Amino acid sequence: MAHAPPLTSRPEDRSGAELAVDLAALAENWRILKKKSGPACDMGAVVKADAYGLGLEPVVRTLKAAGCRTFYAAHLDEGLELRRILGAAADLRLVVMHGPNPGTERDFAAHRLIPVLSTPAQIKAWRGFAAANDVLMESLVQVDTGMNRLGLTAAEFRALMDDPDGFAGLTPLALMSHLAVAETPAHPLNAEQRDRFTSILATFRLKFADVKGSLANSAGIFLGAAYHSDFARPGVALYGVNPTPEAANPMIPVVRLRAKILQVRRVDAAAPVGYGATFLARDGAKLATVSMGYADGLIRAWGAGGHAFVDDIKVPVAGRVSMDLTTFDVSNVPDSSLGPGAMIEIIGSRQTVDDLARESGTIGYEILTALGRRYHRRYLPAPQTK
Ligand SMILES: *Cc1c(COP(=O)(O)O)cnc(C)c1O
Repeated sequence: MAHAPPLTSRPEDRSGAELAVDLAALAENWRILKKKSGPACDMGAVVKADAYGLGLEPVVRTLKAAGCRTFYAAHLDEGLELRRILGAAADLRLVVMHGPNPGTERDFAAHRLIPVLSTPAQIKAWRGFAAANDVLMESLVQVDTGMNRLGLTAAEFRALMDDPDGFAGLTPLALMSHLAVAETPAHPLNAEQRDRFTSILATFRLKFADVKGSLANSAGIFLGAAYHSDFARPGVALYGVNPTPEAANPMIPVVRLRAKILQVRRVDAAAPVGYGATFLARDGAKLATVSMGYADGLIRAWGAGGHAFVDDIKVPVAGRVSMDLTTFDVSNVPDSSLGPGAMIEIIGSRQTVDDLARESGTIGYEILTALGRRYHRRYLPAPQTK
């Protein structure tokens, strides 16, 4: 095989955009949420989807150093990756929220991953596995309290309680449920879900006296102590997205995203820009095209009405976002700010993740989890390695 010549350029020079993740801000958000959820609540961190697109390993190491002891993944493969990062560490709980697909129970047990059991079939299979292998493995049991997404229905929960074999052989650590409208504090469904959860938890404790409760996500923590229960499960707020959209953001921004300008051009006479020729640049307009598009997580619909910044100057998107390129109208920006290496700030101090989401017709969660794989990623400061 031919020997590949060593690269002589730096990754930051090769990439088209830079994603900076402020790990100190992440740790500070952990402390803000911990204070808000109170000393009686054992708060963990939801790190599914590659820690909401920010990078699982640096995020997990930072949160562990900040004191996090429970990590929530969605899929088994994410749980296995968590186990790889965290090692055997007996004092850490690694929870897999989607529970075991049939045939995966053994891998849960072997890697000490705690499943969330949401269906009678998952409970039966987990019980069967525990009995056949003579092991006691902790689990969380999820009940649906009004979201109608995952979890035992009220009738399924009752049937399992009434059946002497229903929960037999299980070692449930907590009863879990998920809030549907926690970002809207005045919505009556919040109190309904909380009351159903409290009542089901009391019933469950007739069988398992020490079982804990887990209800609150990020926004749930801000609904007040009545929602905190024993184990809180914040995700998005750790990463700087506003968990209280009706009020100012109590969290610290974690992400900054800047795209490199590839080319600046001036149009002499009014002319269309981009696919579909949907945007008309006016006479004498100055356009800058950056090396970032929808394949990197920009929402294509953002093209209609979106904007970014060069220094303090607001620059509108000109035309459609393409796969790898986006053009901006930089007519108001002095040429001195558009020289080689100049960048356009997509997310930063002047435009938050929530602002970008609003302009893109979506939510901060989707902006973060859509973040691309082609950026040069910088973690500040460098993550703890132990
Ligand atoms: C994603 C998720 C969370 C975290 O929610 P945030 O709104 O990001 O804080 C908590 N619990 C469950 C079940 C989830 O799916």
